[in-house]
Amino acid sequence: MQNQAPVPLRRFVRGFSVRWFAATAIVAISCGSATQAWAWGREGHRLTALVAEDHLTPETKAQVKALLGNDSMAEVAPWADDYRQNHPETGAWHYVDIPKSEAKYDRMRDCPLPQGDPKSPWRDCVTDRILYFEGQLGDDTLPKEKRAFALKMLIHFVGDLHQPFHAMGDDRGGNGVSVSFLGSTQCGEYKCNLHGIWDESILEHEGLSEDKFRAHLEDLIVQNHWDKMTGGAPSAWAEVSHHYAVEMYAPNGALINSDYVAQATKIVDAELALGGLRLARILNNILGDASATATAPTK
Ligand SMILES: [Zn+2]
Repeated sequence: MQNQAPVPLRRFVRGFSVRWFAATAIVAISCGSATQAWAWGREGHRLTALVAEDHLTPETKAQVKALLGNDSMAEVAPWADDYRQNHPETGAWHYVDIPKSEAKYDRMRDCPLPQGDPKSPWRDCVTDRILYFEGQLGDDTLPKEKRAFALKMLIHFVGDLHQPFHAMGDDRGGNGVSVSFLGSTQCGEYKCNLHGIWDESILEHEGLSEDKFRAHLEDLIVQNHWDKMTGGAPSAWAEVSHHYAVEMYAPNGALINSDYVAQATKIVDAELALGGLRLARILNNILGDASATATAPTK
């Protein structure tokens, strides 16, 4: 039932397992003090876009500027979450509900039929919508506004797909799992839950300014040769995210301790960096080469 064959997945999943990180990754986490409170849901998206910007070709950069005008990729990165407030039909585009009990993505099972346009071949989950908006961005017969919209959506959704709990359906992606985070049940303005600590608390706990965080991710990319890991389809990236969510799942009432946070930090950093690199690859393929088009799902 799976329509996008995840060719490099086996090597990919093994290479990025938590055990692999624990055994081999040397991640230098700065102990610098936090100077500002960040809205990490937004900050995670901004960081993904900032890493992507670092890896665009000059031609792609010029095309992005032609579409976004004076707005930077980082500035527009969180926008799809604002858009969603008044367009609830786009809500399901931000995640993919792979059951916790399953290891593989199954498009028919995990990606619902479209609500907005029942005739559309594109379904309502993040993996389908990345491919859909790749096609829109690459279609230069479309008006500039539509292509700019597609670019903003792509910047956001590639980020979302790399948040592990955006690829697990159980307990509403962990939103329904109450936890305490390092001794507190209050995480900023909300009660701590499993999804929320992956959106914000773990990144915030690193205590880095945005500039330092960006440099930190670029250091990790060089150290780990992650620029060689940009291949594969969104369905394969979803399965890796899901794999992390299953490994790091915690039950209702769990006490998230410093060991958990240390392990989660390595995953968050890798996923932010890889999300940025993969977004750059997508944009370089589409905007750096006018003949590039997205591959549509078979059904
Ligand atoms: Zn989102």
